[in-house]
Amino acid sequence: MDSVRELISPPPFLLQPPQAKIVACLRRQGPLSRTDIADITGYSRSTITTLVNELTDAGILEEMGDGESSGGRRPRVVSFRSDFGYIVAVDMGATGFDLAVADFNAVLLERVSMPIDVRDGAAPILGMLHRLTLEILERQAISPEKIYAFGIGVPGPVDFAAGILNAPPIMPGWDAYPIRAFFRSTFPNAIVIVDNDVNMMAQGELAAGAGRKHENFLFVKIGTGIGCGIVARGEIYRGSTGSAGDVGHICADRNGPMCHCGNVGCLEAIAAGPAIAHRASEAALAGRSAILKKYYEQCGGQMTAVEVGRAAAEGDKVANEIVRDSGYIIGEVLAGQVNFFNPSLILIGGGVSNIGLMFLSSIRSGILTHSLPLSTRHLRIDTSAIAQDAGLIGAAALALTNVFSEER
Ligand SMILES: [Zn+2]
Repeated sequence: MDSVRELISPPPFLLQPPQAKIVACLRRQGPLSRTDIADITGYSRSTITTLVNELTDAGILEEMGDGESSGGRRPRVVSFRSDFGYIVAVDMGATGFDLAVADFNAVLLERVSMPIDVRDGAAPILGMLHRLTLEILERQAISPEKIYAFGIGVPGPVDFAAGILNAPPIMPGWDAYPIRAFFRSTFPNAIVIVDNDVNMMAQGELAAGAGRKHENFLFVKIGTGIGCGIVARGEIYRGSTGSAGDVGHICADRNGPMCHCGNVGCLEAIAAGPAIAHRASEAALAGRSAILKKYYEQCGGQMTAVEVGRAAAEGDKVANEIVRDSGYIIGEVLAGQVNFFNPSLILIGGGVSNIGLMFLSSIRSGILTHSLPLSTRHLRIDTSAIAQDAGLIGAAALALTNVFSEER
């Protein structure tokens, strides 16, 4: 078909709906035999053969090795041609970013990490991304024209359609910055996809983590703030203005502390990393815990949730109480989301998620106590196993997904 044979226009490459269905199927499942593709998509074997041939002729797919045999002759499997094009994935946090170049089968060819202060603003940090990308491409002998997409996860609210940040509280100078235009001159064939970091993590879980087996799940990131990526029917749900999943600003206590958003008693003002550290510092200063006092002095008064987790692991009663309370309140708020959304999986990630088993068990207990039994019957609540890389994997997956679009 002409749309795939003549790949002369820049991405997103247009595919006809049946071709797009096969591409999406391989993106989600990995290499498959023609029979498997037919079973999953519902198309006949002969239709699949025609469609796969078209996509192979266009250089997008290729036949490779043997698939798993179910007895008898081993079927040939179809996968993406890894050198069809390449993508750049970026997972940016407040204090550093990870950057990777991946081939068309989502294999990371090379990755680098770089400390930054995201408050330095868009131009210097994008300049650094730009330079590092070109260095990797040179080492990998890949021409910049072969980069078909950038997937960039950022720690702030994003207007997904426009690819810009939307009044990000911790990223002054990034508001509405034209990130796409920045890369256009060097990477003329690349589309640039920008999304919130928590959505990228949920996307990573969907592509390569526990989320692979779930259609409806939540990824909750607990760090300096508390945010939630929502996967509904196998896709990220962003809401009408891109702010879906902002659970950190749900009111958890009408008489609670002031939040930086201007409201009172928001979940993250009570139970995110800084709140946990603040409570522990108070206890240390009031002489209520010798172990917390030890950590308080060790870090020169700059306590974080990590020290509170360590004190809890040493059996400190006050630290354990803080960890337990914080987890339980997060669980209570998540119970509301469970009643509303009925997910089959909740994954907990972010820097504060690993401050001890007690934290996870308290979150679990808060959720189970306050949700309806029917909504938790098949609910799994766990920490993310790929948390460290979920953002980067998700950015790569989202970039790859967006290289093609479907003809309407
Ligand atoms: Zn708030």
